[in-house]
Amino acid sequence: MVSFSAQVERASWERESWSEIGTVSEALQDFVGWHPEVQEMIRGAETLYKWGLFVRDPLPHWSEGGVTLLGDACHSMVPYLGQGVVMAIEDAFILARCVADLELTSEEALRRYEKARYDRTNRAADASAAMQRVFHHPALAHSETAVPYMEKNWGPEAIRERYEWLFQYDATTVPI
Ligand SMILES: Cc1cc2nc3c(=O)[nH]c(=O)nc-3n(C[C@H](O)[C@H](O)[C@H](O)COP(=O)(O)OP(=O)(O)OC[C@H]3O[C@@H](n4cnc5c(N)ncnc54)[C@H](O)[C@@H]3O)c2cc1C
Repeated sequence: MVSFSAQVERASWERESWSEIGTVSEALQDFVGWHPEVQEMIRGAETLYKWGLFVRDPLPHWSEGGVTLLGDACHSMVPYLGQGVVMAIEDAFILARCVADLELTSEEALRRYEKARYDRTNRAADASAAMQRVFHHPALAHSETAVPYMEKNWGPEAIRERYEWLFQYDATTVPI
């Protein structure tokens, strides 16, 4: 079984849908001139979907009265850092910790949850958007520029700087 996702840059995108069907001929048109194996993979696809990727401005707040949001509903992000689900699960864990504190009213608990999560999730959203330029940099199109680009941007130091703050966080123990 093969599953692939591919990106095409466009100036506009009208429909907001997760279930719009694409066609093989349309995808082949999008990847004209690519390696024959890429085109063979597209030709063999049984089901193709297409959707837009959008960078959203941060919401000013997530909670109102006794209601709050978590996950993509309050901090959707483009998928270039692989952290959307992670942020939703962390949100849920911190929310559970906040509402478990019986000394807080429900509104106080939701405010505490939002305060604990707001900066981190928006930082992840910004960092994901920034990765679009890293993954799709023009230097990657030619081997003579791609190699030094990879060495600079994917060496151990660059990777540590990009990811360490994400993986050092522990939702079970972080102060809230
Ligand atoms: C191509 C792609 C690759 C990704 N890769 C990664 C990755 O590698 N790692 C990672 O961590 N994240 C990744 N993500 C992001 C991740 O999928 C999302 O961040 C995550 O699913 C968000 O979870 P959520 O529960 O907030 O929202 P969702 O998963 O969208 O859940 C919302 C649910 O609510 C339902 N719903 C909507 N409206 C209603 C309604 N009116 N009534 C009842 N139900 C309703 C929906 O059907 C859906 O099931 C990727 C996303 C994409 C698009």
